[in-house]
Amino acid sequence: MLHTHSLYYDHLKAEELAFLRKVADFCAREIAPHATEWEETEELPRDLFTKAGRAGLMGVMAPVSVGGQGFGKLCYALTIEELARHCGAFAMNLAAHNALCVGHPLHFASEELKKKIFPSVLNGDWMVAWALTEPNAGSDTSGVTTAATLQPDGIWELNGHKTYITMGNHSDRMIVMAVSGVDEKGRKEFSAYWINSAGATKVRKVPTAGVCPSNTSELKLEKVSGELIGVRGKGQNAALACLDIGRLGIVGMSLGLGRAAMEIAQQRMLTRKQFGKRIAQFQALQFMLADCEVELRAAEALLLQAAVMSDRGQCHTLEGSIAKLYASEVASRACNRCLQICGSWGYTRDTFVERYWRDARLCEIGEGSSEVQRFIISRTLHKEAEMTASRSRSWRRSRARGRGCRRVAGAGESAGPLRIPPRRACGRTG
Ligand SMILES: Cc1cc2nc3c(=O)[nH]c(=O)nc-3n(C[C@H](O)[C@H](O)[C@H](O)COP(=O)(O)OP(=O)(O)OC[C@H]3O[C@@H](n4cnc5c(N)ncnc54)[C@H](O)[C@@H]3O)c2cc1C
Repeated sequence: MLHTHSLYYDHLKAEELAFLRKVADFCAREIAPHATEWEETEELPRDLFTKAGRAGLMGVMAPVSVGGQGFGKLCYALTIEELARHCGAFAMNLAAHNALCVGHPLHFASEELKKKIFPSVLNGDWMVAWALTEPNAGSDTSGVTTAATLQPDGIWELNGHKTYITMGNHSDRMIVMAVSGVDEKGRKEFSAYWINSAGATKVRKVPTAGVCPSNTSELKLEKVSGELIGVRGKGQNAALACLDIGRLGIVGMSLGLGRAAMEIAQQRMLTRKQFGKRIAQFQALQFMLADCEVELRAAEALLLQAAVMSDRGQCHTLEGSIAKLYASEVASRACNRCLQICGSWGYTRDTFVERYWRDARLCEIGEGSSEVQRFIISRTLHKEAEMTASRSRSWRRSRARGRGCRRVAGAGESAGPLRIPPRRACGRTG
């Protein structure tokens, strides 16, 4: 579970630590004995979600008042990490469920809608999917064409095509991002809708390289009734805010997969003998493990930074992107090295390393690819640099006009401008 070196202990409440112990028990009891079978059948059983809901895993961050656990972002990410050690597909499902399917209505829906859907969304009675991606709208969410039209009777009608939607075809309810009109500048206006998934038409389960038991779905919406979530035209901002939290879940998933692969490789190094020695004695392999450890610890520190900022209510778009980018790439590298350490055995399905390796690859793509994270990071840095330059210019102007701006005067140094941290620009591509 948590490592003794971990700084996490300083940032988790006693109830959160107790909950994480329960999550570990849940994994040992409900997931570990079945994960291989689910990989073969490429299905996750429905009652797994019900059990997870009853155990509080479907509402980790939702407040107790609506039926959730009321825990923080770090606890959420560590829950996903523990799940990923046993089943990457289920971890991905619960990462999306908690951050997107619960987070979206929790923070943006009307009280009336919230009353209607909670606690069924949290207790495992309903499986919910979150549908943004379309055949022509992946990284560039402005490509969404699913249309929402307000009917004369006041009901919204949705028509469109969604793809790569986690559990879309197995869901009971779905949150759908759609174009609800155009704004005053003629740009597409996006809104989010709550629909009954029974109205959607299943196209197929998309076969994937990893996270195979997850039902990655393609579906169509033809005259499906939807209920507006929150304010019309604010759907994209809401979606992006939810993705900020969702990325912390992907960090957790990355760490879980990387750590699980390392545990197998370490054991293999102790038992496998070649050239009359345990392979643990080969420095080439020792160094591979050393690199895995260093990188995973660095990713843990980045998770901590982003999660603590998020829990403090600070904008953490930049920190979340940094953590997601780094942790997902680290997980892929770690799984790849561990597979190499295990040799042919690692490449077979007699062990789990190859599954972790395939599952980890998803972390570099889902909820914003690595390239999109680099784009977000560089754009945020650029905006901050522009703001600093603009503040500095206005300070120089006001000084030239002699209007006495606020100053800090350190001992023995000339007074300079008060350094106010630039305001974070939070908008970005999904
Ligand atoms: C297993 C799985 C589950 C998923 N679950 C969901 C879900 O539940 N709901 C949902 O809405 N979506 C879901 N997705 C979709 C996922 O979020 C998108 O696939 C992802 O955002 C990337 O979009 P894309 O695949 O269309 O890639 P594209 O946007 O087509 O990108 C192709 C390549 O171009 C790169 N690229 C794109 N734009 C830029 C740029 N500006 N600069 C540099 N490079 C760029 C990308 O990084 C990528 O390498 C899921 C996907 C998978 C595989």
